[in-house]
Amino acid sequence: MVDRSRSAERIERDIETLAGPHFTRSSDAIQRYAYTPEYRRTLDHFAGELRSLGFEVSEDPVGTFVARNRPPGESVFGIGSHCDSNRNGGKYDGTMGVATAVEVCRLNVEGGLDLPLQLISFLEEEGSGFGQMLLGSRIMLQRVTEEELRESFRALDDGRSFWEHAEEAGYEPARWRESIHVLDDLTGWIEMHIEQARVLQDTGNRIGLVHAIAGYVHADVIVHGRGDHAGATPMDLRLDPTTVLAETVLELERVARETGQGTVGTVGEIEVDPGLINAIASRVRFSLDIRGPVEEAYRGVAREVAAFAERAAEARGMRAEVRQRQALPATPLDERIVDALETAAKSTGEPYLRMHSGAAHDTMCVADRIPSAMVFVPCRDGISHHPAEDADPADAALAAGIILDAIAALR
Ligand SMILES: [Zn+2]
Repeated sequence: MVDRSRSAERIERDIETLAGPHFTRSSDAIQRYAYTPEYRRTLDHFAGELRSLGFEVSEDPVGTFVARNRPPGESVFGIGSHCDSNRNGGKYDGTMGVATAVEVCRLNVEGGLDLPLQLISFLEEEGSGFGQMLLGSRIMLQRVTEEELRESFRALDDGRSFWEHAEEAGYEPARWRESIHVLDDLTGWIEMHIEQARVLQDTGNRIGLVHAIAGYVHADVIVHGRGDHAGATPMDLRLDPTTVLAETVLELERVARETGQGTVGTVGEIEVDPGLINAIASRVRFSLDIRGPVEEAYRGVAREVAAFAERAAEARGMRAEVRQRQALPATPLDERIVDALETAAKSTGEPYLRMHSGAAHDTMCVADRIPSAMVFVPCRDGISHHPAEDADPADAALAAGIILDAIAALR
């Protein structure tokens, strides 16, 4: 029987230690990112814990952290997350996942299981150093180009290139393609993370078993109207593009609800030109963020809403154009691993939920190559990426036990 209160204490100790002044660049938030002393000290903290458990510690050519209890070439099961933060971050996003993975390693030793494990803490998940999310895992999966690393990815702090910063920190970015070898011996991968939404809290569940990570479409809709005087122009003589905006926002809500399957749609940016109280707008631009775990579903909503906006503009004598910014496919996770996690979760008697992740994670990249799954724990009121972020180490301790049991069962 695993002593969960002891696990909770150890996870909490790691998290609180890493919330101290040595490990964050801000006095009122967690702020750490690649190639800073604070980030270095965070990796060193985990390295110390893992060495004491008999792990060999290394880093890939750009600084993704790796620790394993078997020599290279032997099969291992992967666990971990990231320990950088956004610039105004909380203590738990990412770091709790790494601390929980370390706890899995401790329980593995204490329980005499001696399961072959490899812990990974990915570089620059949050993109705080270079404005590039999931950078470490994208480098690992070769989802970047050398030109981007050498030239276009630049530090938010000083504008110098990723390449230059990596070299200065003692890494070998010229060998970035070798990062993929970190995954060579992995038979599976499980990342634990705070949920970053309020589903678990509001449904009274302590554990989320993630079977898919949402993909998304990002687009802009631009509606061209005619700028006129708000007082002097009768209602019948207007070409007011904000009417198309209003109709499209409601249509997005309707279609996303009707489509279901976890599909969500948001208009988060609205730009009204000229944006004056006494002027009919000549033009509006608004964004579409449409996501979901089911590719056909969210892409269908994106198509329908784009077509609707064009029709709605035309019906009012205006013109709408839709420009796609970016699209990312949904990532289905590995059923066998999710099932093993479910069996382990069930045996604890604690409430859990099978769910998808609306947020992006490094696991999206890992899942390209390695059978993968994720485990979520609740975070208070769904708050993340903010100093008010809060999560319960007792839930993380529960997750650690479930992950260990699942890995043992998957052998
Ligand atoms: Zn995170």
